[in-house]
Amino acid sequence: MNRVILIKYGELTTKKGNRNFFIKVLYENIKNKLQDYQVNIKKDISRMYIEFEDKDLKIILSKINEVFGIHKYHVAYKVSSDQETIKESVLDAIKNISFDTFKVNTKRSDKRFEINSMDFNNVIGGLILKNVNNVKVDVHNPDLLVNIEILPEFTYIYTNSYAGLGGYPVGTQPKSILMLSGGIDSPVAGYLMLKRGVKLDCIYFEAIPHTSLEARDKVLSLAKKLSKYCNKIDVHIIPFTEIQESIYKNCNPDYTITIMRRMMYRITERLAKRKKALVISNGESIGQVASQTLHSMSVINEVTNMPVIRPVACLDKLEIIDIARKIDTYETSILPFEDCCTVFVPKHPVINPTLEECLINEEKFDFEEQINTVMKNIKTITIREKDKNNYQDLL
Ligand code: ATP
Ligand code: MG
Repeated sequence: MNRVILIKYGELTTKKGNRNFFIKVLYENIKNKLQDYQVNIKKDISRMYIEFEDKDLKIILSKINEVFGIHKYHVAYKVSSDQETIKESVLDAIKNISFDTFKVNTKRSDKRFEINSMDFNNVIGGLILKNVNNVKVDVHNPDLLVNIEILPEFTYIYTNSYAGLGGYPVGTQPKSILMLSGGIDSPVAGYLMLKRGVKLDCIYFEAIPHTSLEARDKVLSLAKKLSKYCNKIDVHIIPFTEIQESIYKNCNPDYTITIMRRMMYRITERLAKRKKALVISNGESIGQVASQTLHSMSVINEVTNMPVIRPVACLDKLEIIDIARKIDTYETSILPFEDCCTVFVPKHPVINPTLEECLINEEKFDFEEQINTVMKNIKTITIREKDKNNYQDLL
C-alpha cells in the first residue's frame, strides 16, 4: 500500500480571499524544505498530499515539523475507492497496532460511493470486531480512531494524527527587522514573528573591542537556528562602538542605556526603510530590566513611528525559556559572551526616564552624523539553513 502525508491547514482556513495565496506560499515552503528528498507534493483547497519514499519518512516528518502554517498532519494509506480494497487495507493498516477499544470515522466526500458514512462505519466496525480478538467499540474515548476519507479518486485511511507548528506560512506577511542580541529573549521573539508568517531580517549591534567576535558568532548561530523556519535570514551587523563610546563619555550615566536604546531604534528604523520592512520586532518583556519598564519603553519608542512588535512582552522569563528550549536556542543563548548592553551597564539605570532628560543628553554629541557613518558601514551576512556553523571566515 502507498502511503502519503496528509497535511491540514488549520488557521489558514479562516483566510477567505487570501486562501489561495496562503496555500501557494505553504506549498513553496514545504517544497523548499523537502528539496533533498524524492517527493511529490499536491495541493488542493483544503489539504496537501506528500508522496515520499518509505525510507525517508522519519526525516521528512521532522522537516515538516519546522514549517509554519501546518495545523495537523497524518500519515495515511492511499488506496483506490472501492469497498473491497478499503476493507483489506483497513485490516492491513491496523494489524501491528495494539488497542482494546476503537471507533471508525468515515467521511464520504464522493457521494457516488454506494454506502453512506454511518453505514460504512458499521461495515468496517463489524469487520474489525470479526478479525481482531478482544476489542470493543467505544465511540467516546477509543484507543484507536480509524479514519477513512473517501474521495472520488482515492481513499485515505489513517489512525494517527500529529500536531503541526500552526501559525501562518512564512512569507505571507511582509518583512520585520528583528533586533537580535545574543540573549534568550530575542531569538524567541523572532520565532514568534516567523510563526505569524512574517519575513525577518536581523540587526545586531556590536561594539568591538568591547564585545568579542565570539559574541557575534553566537548571534549568527542563533540566526542559523531561526533559519530552520524560514530557509535563510540576512543578519545586518552594526558597528556601534563609536556611538556607544560617545554615549558613555557624554551622557548622564543613569541614562546611558535609555539613550543607547533610542540610538538602536533610530538605526533599526533606518535599516527597516532601506530593506522595505514595515515593522521592528525585539525581545523586550515588560518590566524585565530598567530599560523595559513601560516608562522606558515609551521614552525609547518615541524616536520612531514604525510599529514595534514585542512578541514576548507579556511572557514570564520561564515561559520564554520554555520556548527557547523547544526551538533549541537556549543553550546557545546562555553562552557567556557579553553583548554591547551588558558591557556598558550603569550602576543605577533609570527606571522612569523622561523624554526631556533624554533630549538634553542627546544634545551632547552629534549622533545624527555618527548614525550616518554607521549606515554606510553595515555588514550583511546571509545565513542559510544549510550553512556550516562557522561564520567568522565569511567576514
Ligand atoms: P536576555 O535574554 O538576557 O534578556 P536580551 O537579548 O533580551 O537578553 P535585553 O537587554 O533584555 O537583552 O534587550 C532587550 C531587547 O533589545 C533584546 O531582546 C533585543 O531584541 C534587543 N537588543 C539588545 N541588545 C541588542 C544587540 N546588541 N543587538 C540587537 N538587538 C539587541
Ligand atoms: Mg531580555
